This record gives sequence, structure tokens and C-alpha cells, in this order.
Amino acid sequence: MSKKNLNIGMAGAGLSCAVIARELAEQGHQLNLFDRRAHVAGNCHTERDVGTGVMVHVYGPHIFHTDDDEVWTFVNKYMRFMPYVNRVKATTGGQVYSLPINLHTINQFFGKTLNPAEAKAFIEEQADTSIIEPQSFEEQALRFIGRPLYEAFFRGYTLKQWEVDPTRLPAAILKRLPVRFNYNDNYFFHKHQGMPEEGYTKMVERILDHPNITVTLNAELHADDIDAYDHVFWSGPMDGFFGYDLGRLPYRTLDFQRFEGRGDLQGCAVMNYTEESVPYTRITEHKHFSPWEEHEQSVCYREFSRSCGHLDTPYYPVHLTDGDDLVQSYKARAQGLAKVTFVGRLGTYRYMDMDLTIREAMNSARDFLAGLSS
Ligand code: UDP
Repeated sequence: MSKKNLNIGMAGAGLSCAVIARELAEQGHQLNLFDRRAHVAGNCHTERDVGTGVMVHVYGPHIFHTDDDEVWTFVNKYMRFMPYVNRVKATTGGQVYSLPINLHTINQFFGKTLNPAEAKAFIEEQADTSIIEPQSFEEQALRFIGRPLYEAFFRGYTLKQWEVDPTRLPAAILKRLPVRFNYNDNYFFHKHQGMPEEGYTKMVERILDHPNITVTLNAELHADDIDAYDHVFWSGPMDGFFGYDLGRLPYRTLDFQRFEGRGDLQGCAVMNYTEESVPYTRITEHKHFSPWEEHEQSVCYREFSRSCGHLDTPYYPVHLTDGDDLVQSYKARAQGLAKVTFVGRLGTYRYMDMDLTIREAMNSARDFLAGLSS
């Protein structure tokens, strides 16, 4: 195989393949991306809402946050990031609280005026300290915040989001969220946070804007096509590459119910509804993601989670504590294929934030290039 001007196929035009394509295009290789959808950027796709002109996060809220300086520099090369701090609210029991759980949430929920040290001691009294190494989502919650906060903010939301008892979900899902004993209500704890001024799709289009990159939309690269290429990067579903022959990996998909109105409809970008009795998990009011723009009209999405059918868009991979045998079987096969590199959320079947997706894509491109020169 000639090590220059390789002809590379890519399944998917989301963040993973876009970043790899750019890195390899700059080294003189030819990249051919195929995406079954009508747009690039995968699930972080943004577009202007026809009715209101507001930039909407079509597949649900995406807030960029990272501690990785190189990733932050990379995204800023292609798009100006506007200052943005994600402050999430939660409605439960007829009141509105702030998330992640912080001193305000604790004092409001328990009707107290505790200082940080008092709050810490108070929450420790509620925590189940008999749990030494939490394995499940529920154990993690009971160990660190205790039952009352768990039941008010996490149990109902998690049942709606995953449709699995939180005793069967991994603790890692809850570890995404901090608990704070001060009034900091920033949802994230990362060094960099922001929102792309012209949306994620424009950013991905710019990453892909290189003479060595060809993008074909509304088209799929099939596993049978790999012989036409020197190498393939696959960011589609891992089980899809193998024709689902061992069975389908489970995903959650989301449905959005759109509504619009004049002015400010909920006063914040994301309001979670953490009770099980409310059928949706959250409402996103998109114009709050671009506070630098002015819009009289506003558009909101009510978000409903459900099991992903064959024709639906996969969002969240479902990992359970009691075994991921099917994933492991597909992974073992995927690793055995020298000609194909599986990347990204669907290709590696993991719950990944955007920054990690970009970091891993950069690493994949570099490993590939290093392999060519060794
Ligand atoms: N979660 C919850 N209540 C909330 C917010 C989150 O129980 O109000 C749980 C839920 O199981 C969710 C997980 O924490 O899937 C991770 O939340 P995150 O906000 O990171 O979810 P994402 O925005 O990625 O869907």
C-alpha cells in the first residue's frame, strides 16, 4: 500500500470523522465521507428554526465544555465560541430548584440556611455510608447525596430517561454531575465552556472545507464497500457494520415536541422535570443558547426519551451493570479488522461528550499516520 495519497472512506460526517478527515487531508490523503442524513455534524447539528429564526439544537442541547486546551484551540480555529455558562433548573414537587445540586438547592429543598460546612455534614448524615464502592447509579446517589435528594432529583428523571431501574445502571452516569457545597450553579466544572456563534453545523462544515475532502449526504457507506478504499473510519453504529448479525445493541432515542410563542417562555435554556409523573424529561428554550442574538419569538422543545427502534435515530447507548456481553462480542470483532477503525459514540458504543469525541478523533488520526510511517 502506497503511504501517500491514500483513498480513505468514512461512514458518518459528525465530529469524529470530520476531525479525522481534516487531520488526514492536511497530510495529503483523500477523504470520502458519507452520511445518511441531509446534514453534517451528526447529533450536534444546529439549524435556524423556520418559524422563529432561532438557532436550534435539533437533536437536543449541546453545550461545549472541556479541560483539554488542544481541543479548545482546535474548535476555536473553525468557529468563534461565545461565552456561555450552562445553568440548569429543575422543577419538582411544585418548586423550581437549581442544578447541579448545590448549596442553594440543599437549603431550599430542606428549608434551611446552612453554610458550606454545615451542609456537608448534613448531607453526610443522610448518605448511606454502608455503601463502600458504589456500583450502580442508585448506590452512587445514596452514598453521596442520600435518599431524599436522590428521589426528588434523580430517580424519576433517570427512570424516564433510561427506562431501567437505577439499580441496573452504572454509577458512571451519575458521576457526570457534580454536587457542590457552595452557590456555584455552573452545570460543568471544566476550564473552557462556550457556544459556537454560528452553530455547530457551520463549525463542522468549516472543518470539512478542504480540497481533499468530499462529503456525500443522503448516502451510506456500506461494510461491503470497504474494498474500494485503502482504509475506512466507521462512526456509524458498530453493530450496523456487522449487519446486526449478533443482535442489536440497545439505544435510547429522543422525540421532541415543538412549541413556540412570543417573548421568553421559560426564562432559561434547560428546565428539567425530575418527577416520574411528568412524561417528558426536560424543556429546552433554544434562544437562551444564543443570548447575543435578539428574537421576539421563541421556540421550545419538550424532550421525551424512549427505546430506539430500527428506523429511529440512536442517541444514548444503554450500558447496564449486569453485563455488556453483546457489546464485548462486537468490540472483539471490530478490533480484529485491520482495515477499519471504529470511532465515536456509535462506532465505539459509548456515552461521549463532544470534547472527548474530538480528542479521540485527533488521537485516531495521529495513530493512523504514525502507523503509516512505521
Ligand atoms: N439526571 C437526573 N436528573 C437530572 C439530570 C440528570 O437524574 O435532573 C441523570 C440522568 O440519569 C441522566 C444523567 O444524570 O441521564 C446524566 O445527566 P446529563 O445532564 O449529563 O445528561 P445529558 O444532557 O447528557 O442527557
